[in-house]
Amino acid sequence: MLDQEVELDQKVESKCSRRAALVKGAQALAAIGILGAGVRPAVAKGKASKEDFYFQDTPGDDGRTCSGCINFTPKSTGLYGKDSGDCALLEGDVCTHCYCQGWTDKNDPNAKRAGT
Ligand code: SF4
Repeated sequence: MLDQEVELDQKVESKCSRRAALVKGAQALAAIGILGAGVRPAVAKGKASKEDFYFQDTPGDDGRTCSGCINFTPKSTGLYGKDSGDCALLEGDVCTHCYCQGWTDKNDPNAKRAGT
């Protein structure tokens, strides 16, 4: 492959990745109430999907977990047994050691719980 073709491929890939990241970011901001009502119709109908926020049942790379998130409410039974919890942002069970991109520090005095 020619250098120019490689460069073009890299530019296209970069633009696509940037666009996907912007879309996901806007969805995340809309869901946690940072963006205006005009861009949050999907969230207004109910909770977001786990896929939209890259939910994982392991801690984030930085060690963040649902247990430190303002959107987490622990419960004693569920998909993750005694570590289960409900999330104000995402549908379905989450867990104390889970994580997603909607993580919001529960100790931040300016943090706002999803849907409030
Ligand atoms: S927003 Fe994400 S990190 Fe916070 S409780 Fe819900 S799933 Fe966990």
